[in-house]
Amino acid sequence: MDCTCTKNNIEHYNNFELKNFNTAKVSTLADDVYFIHSEADFLSIIRNIKNPIIIGAGSNTLLSSSGIKNPVIITKKMSEISIRKDMVEVQAGASVQKLSLEAKENHLSGFEFLIGLPATLGGAVAMNAGAHGQTISDNIISARIYDMEKGEILTFGKDELEFSYRNSIIKKNPKRYIVLGASFKLEKKEKDLIEQKMQENTEFRKKVQPSLALPNLGSTFKNPKTKDGEPISAGLLIDKCNLKGYSIGGAKVWENHANFVINFNNATSKDYTDVIFTMYSKVKEKFDIELEPEIVRIGDFTPYEDEKWKIMKKN
Ligand SMILES: Cc1cc2nc3c(=O)[nH]c(=O)nc-3n(C[C@H](O)[C@H](O)[C@H](O)COP(=O)(O)OP(=O)(O)OC[C@H]3O[C@@H](n4cnc5c(N)ncnc54)[C@H](O)[C@@H]3O)c2cc1C
Repeated sequence: MDCTCTKNNIEHYNNFELKNFNTAKVSTLADDVYFIHSEADFLSIIRNIKNPIIIGAGSNTLLSSSGIKNPVIITKKMSEISIRKDMVEVQAGASVQKLSLEAKENHLSGFEFLIGLPATLGGAVAMNAGAHGQTISDNIISARIYDMEKGEILTFGKDELEFSYRNSIIKKNPKRYIVLGASFKLEKKEKDLIEQKMQENTEFRKKVQPSLALPNLGSTFKNPKTKDGEPISAGLLIDKCNLKGYSIGGAKVWENHANFVINFNNATSKDYTDVIFTMYSKVKEKFDIELEPEIVRIGDFTPYEDEKWKIMKKN
């Protein structure tokens, strides 16, 4: 891995190992990686590269073990948070964990659900992250978006971001839109009440989610609906197929909650794909329900892997 700082002192690496930049700890090499610290950094590189891929905290992203040829921009170091009264402005790479703690210190409610989420703000907006009855879309006013088609920065209001369950216009158009930051208006509340809610959320997470000591990508599938339109837990369906503990290579369905796949022994993207495809196929066979993956993929996957993901992503 060689660092070649460009003339503007932007960190640029060739053959960069991304194992520590995705929470599943899948090892892979990217041809070109840029770390941005500011919008100025971003603008100075974006016009000179083609088809960039954005990684925030890599907490919902399966990276291909076969490598990544497209230039990768990692946003983590562009991470300012500014709070004035009840208005919060956040850069894309800010940790949402830090954001929830700073909001609490300022007696602001609305980000309690972000405690314990290993994500960046940009990733949370793209995925419309949510938990405990709150989502990132609840209090958003607008987002600063770079439009790769137009080559300019635009401001998208909440409606233009087209949020729905774990989805947004950003996620639907990954080759076009990049989140640079977002503004929120939160509600003033007593700090004790905010603290209490965050503690409850933390306790709940400890019970139902693996810690990152067991590398994972969060929920594998979205919760589907039954034929009657009732939401049903993906984890429950997978559990009823007796898949807890099921493993291929270094990837395994977590024993405590079947919608998580953990990397227990140097799992590759193929191991992940095989386990995830088995979960999908067994649920389809037993319940005639086609689960939709929540996690996204980045990189150059083998035809074998692509074929399985195309089947799962068709719905
Ligand atoms: C232990 C654990 C618990 C989790 N719990 C939850 C939960 O409770 N609720 C929930 O919703 N999710 C949860 N997740 C999943 C994940 O944290 C969220 O989806 C999160 O929003 C992803 O943020 P990220 O920064 O890691 O995004 P990444 O994984 O880095 O990226 C996800 C996608 O967004 C794109 N992206 C990232 N940044 C930008 C940007 N600036 N502009 C445009 N596109 C961008 C990427 O290209 C990729 O397509 C959990 C994950 C783990 C590992």
